[in-house]
Amino acid sequence: MTATTFDSLSPLDGRVVGTFPVQGADEVAATVDRARRAAEEWRALGFSGRRRALDAWRRDIVAHLDELIALVRAETGKPAGDARLEIMLALDHLAWAASHARRVLRRRSVFPGLLMLNQSATLGYLPYGVVGVIGPWNYPVFTPMGSLAYALAAGNAVVFKPSEYTPAVGVWLREAFVRAGGPADAFAVVTGLGPTGAALCRAGVDKVAFTGSTATGKAVMAACAESLTPVVIEAGGKDALLVDEDADLDAAAEAAVWGAYSNAGQTCIGIERVYVHTAVAGRFVDRVAELTADLRAGVDDAARLGPLTMARQADVVRAHVADAVAAGGHLRVGGLPPEGAVIPPILLTDVDERSTAVREETFGPTLVVNRVASMDEAIRRANAVRYGLSGSVFSRRRGKELAMRLRGGMVAINAVIAFAAVPALPFGGVGDSGFGRIHGADGLREFATAKAITRQRFRLLTLTTMRRRPGVDRIVDRIIRALYG
Ligand code: NAD
Repeated sequence: MTATTFDSLSPLDGRVVGTFPVQGADEVAATVDRARRAAEEWRALGFSGRRRALDAWRRDIVAHLDELIALVRAETGKPAGDARLEIMLALDHLAWAASHARRVLRRRSVFPGLLMLNQSATLGYLPYGVVGVIGPWNYPVFTPMGSLAYALAAGNAVVFKPSEYTPAVGVWLREAFVRAGGPADAFAVVTGLGPTGAALCRAGVDKVAFTGSTATGKAVMAACAESLTPVVIEAGGKDALLVDEDADLDAAAEAAVWGAYSNAGQTCIGIERVYVHTAVAGRFVDRVAELTADLRAGVDDAARLGPLTMARQADVVRAHVADAVAAGGHLRVGGLPPEGAVIPPILLTDVDERSTAVREETFGPTLVVNRVASMDEAIRRANAVRYGLSGSVFSRRRGKELAMRLRGGMVAINAVIAFAAVPALPFGGVGDSGFGRIHGADGLREFATAKAITRQRFRLLTLTTMRRRPGVDRIVDRIIRALYG
């Protein structure tokens, strides 16, 4: 790596996947300027023109699917099947955003109210202009697509800064857009490390969509505050899965294991904690242990868990496991993580709630299962962390009630992460997990500004005049008492 370029290295074998420029503030600002000019052209295409361009992009991605799967695997280390799944979900969101933008954002009439019956009132949603999208590496297609597709469909140009761990995927996505006929500068990519992202926040974009860690989210928000640039922050999580005494235990165990270990646990909405009712805890933990022990981590194609994408995250995983064990937690499957980025799945039980393994995002293949005497206790413990992204509830009778009480923006009942695959549902969290929403109608509106217009159709009682007569004030007095008394 030199001062002006950086290498993207595969966590599978250390090979260089690609070399990319480290772009500085001037280059980022120039890219944003070009995107601003392209934004005019993109906006002028209208909803149907943009839909055609986004549909062509989607078809191009499918036409080159194997290439993208191989690139995602090379840069993240995840199994090819998981890369395929991630791309499928991203394509579904791209299709949904393209086809629903008109219905959600077009100008519509609203009832003007009795006082303003002489006005016609309309509401429409206009694009911001240029949206800066800053992405993480864990789902390098699915995660940024939640901002890219929705921002583009809403009529914005985008400047995307992919993670320094997955720049090749970011550049590839943009190449596919251009290859499919999209205007080159309407979807631009800048590459680099953290400072390139910071430069994007200060480059005059009209909105920033950030996905990444909570700590970086705060830095992004601070940078954007300098110019009052609005932000949407999709940050980390510490999601819990609750298992009630009447739950389908096999299904719950299966879901917990997938939620915890898929993508080697590097999932913002992954399951890191389980609270299981004592009445069924023994059977549940046995089943989870059985399924966990069956999983193998490795860099070969057959391994169900790949290596950690970011090798230094292994230190965090090790520290959390050590902390859990030091506080009396029980290592049911796996041991203290070995050196290196390949970490076999780890199942911990009866871990002290104050330990970092319970309170902080681990972002590795670990799962903490703690037993609770009641589902009220499960809710209390699940909600006792600063994060509030999503969660999961397994219960035959109380699913909806528990889901409503679980803190966070999304909950799956009798499944895990199902909400992320429903394009019509908004995605986002509360607390340290951030704010704002991607996906769904809320996700489209996140990338647009409401514009309200009234048009006077005829003169009625004119109240906004300096020549208002005392008689009019008497009418106003009667209206107040009649309508609002
Ligand atoms: P990160 O915060 O380290 O980096 C995210 C992006 O921000 C990268 O592109 C990075 O280059 C950039 N960046 C770094 N410093 C910056 C700065 N000062 N200003 C602007 N940009 C800067 O996160 P990561 O390690 O890439 O991703 C993992 C994290 O992302 C986890 O916490 C995970 O939970 C979270 N995540 C959240 C969601 C969600 O939708 N809520 C989805 C995926 C991942």
